[in-house]
Amino acid sequence: MSPQRPQKIGILGAGQLGRMLALAGYPLGFEFRFLDPNPDSPSRHLGEFINADYDDRAALTEFVAGLDLVTFEFENVPASVLDFLDEQLPTAPPSAALATGQDRLHEKRLFTELGIGTPPFERVDSYEELETAAKGLGFPALIKTQHLGYDGKGQYLVREESDLQMAWSELGGVPLILEGFIDFDRELSVIAARGADGDIVVYPLTENHHEGGILRDSRAPAPDLDPRLQERAEGYARQILEYFDYTGILTIELFQIGDELLANEFAPRVHNSGHWTIEGAVTSQFENHLRAITGLPLGSTDPLGEFVMQNIIGSIPDTADLLALEGRHLHLYGKAPRPGRKLGHITWRTDRP
Ligand code: AMP
Repeated sequence: MSPQRPQKIGILGAGQLGRMLALAGYPLGFEFRFLDPNPDSPSRHLGEFINADYDDRAALTEFVAGLDLVTFEFENVPASVLDFLDEQLPTAPPSAALATGQDRLHEKRLFTELGIGTPPFERVDSYEELETAAKGLGFPALIKTQHLGYDGKGQYLVREESDLQMAWSELGGVPLILEGFIDFDRELSVIAARGADGDIVVYPLTENHHEGGILRDSRAPAPDLDPRLQERAEGYARQILEYFDYTGILTIELFQIGDELLANEFAPRVHNSGHWTIEGAVTSQFENHLRAITGLPLGSTDPLGEFVMQNIIGSIPDTADLLALEGRHLHLYGKAPRPGRKLGHITWRTDRP
């Protein structure tokens, strides 16, 4: 007899990641309810939609009524909100992973504790500490806010000592870390899923290109990949998943320097660098996240070929022109154009004869 499975999934955050989760979940028979403070969220038509702040307790009570479980697609949902919901129904991934991922200092300390390589870093709470840390780490270095940083936000590159004063006046006053600048060969990411039974599956490493801190495009599987790097990345993912007794998808962003891999940060959620898996892998990251959190068996992460995923940022090109190109898969998120905003993506296969 098949076990009874949750059918209605609540998602905190209703951005494009929530939208793609729902699109992957409908074929499996799931229903969705979203909560997001933005009334124009990309997922608002993909299920029931509650427009409220994440910490609005009355709205959260309305949100959980009739749900079987809750997950999140936005990494800055307060962990306390997840803890509050977890008293009422199952939630995944765990709030401890969410809280650690929101804090660059704790995240890097965890990498270090688990023996996962990470750029050298120092906690910085005052200008004097910044000066001391900069002397120790050398230049160039990056100052990052400890909290609420993503897509290169909350960062300042200091090239020489005379930049410190300006950097401090930009970012000072909130908890910071100073991080050694890594002259990496390339950026990679590893995406892995852990099921409720502890089973782990890992996608092939993806090569990522950023501009201005924003992901522009990804190639997967990462070209010219030494299998030992894949193995090392899988080991990193496995350690973090097991540390948190994690359920769901986890992403780690990595720098490759020769045969070394340094972890920059992790995201306790599906990730932009995994969008290629919708067309390019046996099971997409979105489907595997849903399988994991609902206790279903995980699907194969095998790639179906070589793929490129390109983000559509700021403005939407002519869709007819795009689709006139053979084999292009277009995903638009229903967002109003704005400079620097991710509005959609295109995926295509590159190894077809
Ligand atoms: P983050 O906000 O930490 O995800 O950083 C955004 C982007 O900034 C990364 O994808 C890298 O391209 C770059 N970056 C972050 N940290 C470092 C570092 N320590 N050394 C060199 N580049 C970095």
